[in-house]
Amino acid sequence: MILLIFDFPCISCGLCCQKINLSPKKVHREMDSGDGVCIYLKRNTCSIYETRPVECNIKLSYVEYSHIFSQSEYILLNINACLGLMREVGRTDLIDLMSTHERLFQQYIADTKSQTITQESTLKIKP
Ligand code: SF4
Ligand code: SF4
Repeated sequence: MILLIFDFPCISCGLCCQKINLSPKKVHREMDSGDGVCIYLKRNTCSIYETRPVECNIKLSYVEYSHIFSQSEYILLNINACLGLMREVGRTDLIDLMSTHERLFQQYIADTKSQTITQESTLKIKP
């Protein structure tokens, strides 16, 4: 099994779990309580976190896309999805925080492609 070396820099805003109606994934639409909020979101926290679907788990869901994207590219894609949600609800405070992670991963990917960094494991980005 392929696992991410990096931690996804989730800032626990809960927006993705409040807008699952926007997800293209069938499993998410099935958990929609009717207003876009996941039935498992309790007090802005996932109540089934340890057993949440693969589609809610960046590390595990990467396996499906590992033949297309590097780990850092996959994380950047998901960061951009978070930023899209944050922009939609106008949360500039969250956008500022997530944009920092976006820049770090953009820089890392650019450095990797220019051979400045050759081993992904040399990067230590934590939320
Ligand atoms: S929208 Fe992004 S940052 Fe916010 S809880 Fe979901 S994964 Fe984490
Ligand atoms: S199962 Fe948990 S992580 Fe997945 S959308 Fe629902 S509350 Fe969010």
